Amino acid sequence: MHLVDLTRQFLSKYYPRQHLVSACLLFAVFIVLLLISNHESAEPEQTQINIPVTIRVEQPIPAEPTDREIVSSTEPEFLPDPVIENPGAATWKHVEVKSGDNLSAIFAQVGLSDRELFHVLNSNDEAKILNRVFPGYQLSFSIPKPGQLEQLKVLKSPLEGFLFTLIDGFYDVEKISRAPEIRQVFKHGSITDSLFMAGLKENIPDLTIMEMANIFGGVIDFILDPRLGDDFSILFEEKYLDDEFIGTGEILAAQFTNQGKQFVAVQYENALGEIGYYNPLGESMRKAFLRAPIDVFRISSNFSLARRHPILNTIRAHKGTDYAAPKGTPIRATSDGTVTWAGRNGSFGKLIVIKHRGAFETKYAHLSDYANGAKKGRRVRQGDIIGYVGSTGSATGPHLHYEFLMNGVHKNPRTILDKLPKAESIPADELNRFRHQSEPLLVQFKALEKTKMLALGQHGAE
Ligand SMILES: [Zn+2]
Repeated sequence: MHLVDLTRQFLSKYYPRQHLVSACLLFAVFIVLLLISNHESAEPEQTQINIPVTIRVEQPIPAEPTDREIVSSTEPEFLPDPVIENPGAATWKHVEVKSGDNLSAIFAQVGLSDRELFHVLNSNDEAKILNRVFPGYQLSFSIPKPGQLEQLKVLKSPLEGFLFTLIDGFYDVEKISRAPEIRQVFKHGSITDSLFMAGLKENIPDLTIMEMANIFGGVIDFILDPRLGDDFSILFEEKYLDDEFIGTGEILAAQFTNQGKQFVAVQYENALGEIGYYNPLGESMRKAFLRAPIDVFRISSNFSLARRHPILNTIRAHKGTDYAAPKGTPIRATSDGTVTWAGRNGSFGKLIVIKHRGAFETKYAHLSDYANGAKKGRRVRQGDIIGYVGSTGSATGPHLHYEFLMNGVHKNPRTILDKLPKAESIPADELNRFRHQSEPLLVQFKALEKTKMLALGQHGAE
C-alpha cells in the first residue's frame, strides 16, 4: 500500500474530515507566510554583496599541455555551463576559485585551452602573479570569439586585483585598485529586548553594534545595565562599491542613554594615527576594567531583558555577581593581568583567578572549560577569552560567578568601578587638536539626532 494511502487512512481514522480540511488550509497559509517572511528577511540590501556566479570544480582536471582537443575532451559532463553575463554584449564568464582548483581546469571551464593559459602566463614577468591565485579570488574572462581571450580580470577582493588585456598579441597587466565610497549612516534605536535585537530592528550591521558595545564596555555592563527604554544613537560609516554595500566602516560617534544616564563617545585619531574613542571632554572611553566579564554578543540571540536573571548578587550574601548565560558562553578577562589560578577549587568548580595591577584581583567560577592560554602564570589582556560558562562546583544552573577584590577585600564591581581613578585623558597640549577634530563631528551628530527626534515626535535627548 502506498504511503499516501496509509497516511490518509491514519488521518481519517483519527481526525474528522472538517478538521483535516482546516488543517490543510492552515498549513497552506503557513507556507505562504513562510515564503513571505523568507522573502522579507532576504530584503535588506545593505548586507548583500554581489558575488559573481560561481562554478564549482568537483575535481581538479590534470593539466594537459598544448593540445586543445585533449583539454576539451577532459571536461567532465557534470560541469554546468559557465554563466554568461549580458548575452550579446561583451561575453564575460565568471569563476570563483575554489580550493583544489587549478588554472588549467578553470580555463577549460570557460572554454579556453592550456595554450591560451601559457600565452597569458608567458606574456611578461608580471603575468606570473597568476601562479598565486587563491581560493576566493574572482576570475572574469572576456571571450568575444571561441578560444579567444581578450581580457582576464583577477580580483582578490572587490577592491583589488589585476586586469590582463590582449594588446598586439601579448597580454598587458594592469593593477586594479579601487577605493570604496564611504557613506555616513545615522541610526537611532531603543532597547525593548536587547541591544542586539534593537540593532537588528534598526538594520544596523552586527559588527557595528558589537563595536559600539565595545566602545561603551568600560562604562556599561551590557548584560546587567540595559533597561527598557534605554536608547542609543550612532553615526557610522559604510563602504560601497558601485552602489553595492561591501562592508562596514568605523563608528564616528555614538551615544547611549542607560537608566537616564547619558554616555557620548567620539572617535579621535591622534598625530600618530592611533584611533580611540573619547567623551566630549577628551577622557578615554577605555577603562581599566570592562564592566561585563561576558562577551555579550556571543549570547545575544538567546539573551533578552525579559528573560534576564535578576541580579543575584548582594555583596554580603555571596561576594560576587552572577551572570546567568548559556553553557559555553565565552568569558573574558575584564582587565590586563596574570592568571594566578586555573583549576578546580571546591564549590567554585573550575575557577580562574587573575591578578591585576593596583592590588586588584578578579575571579571567574563554575566554568565549563578554560580557554587556551588561560593557564597559571600566563599574562592576559583585557577582553581576552579565558574560559566558558558552565555549572561546575555548586551551581544549580549554568552561570558565571564573578568576584572583584581590592587588596584582598571583596568589592561590588558595579559601584567600585565608578570610584576608580579616571582613565587617561587627551594630554593638555593635544586638547586643541582633539577639539578641532571632535567638535564638528559632535555638532553633526547632535543635529542628526535632533532631526531624528523631531521625526519621532519626541524631545531631544539633551
Ligand atoms: Zn555566585
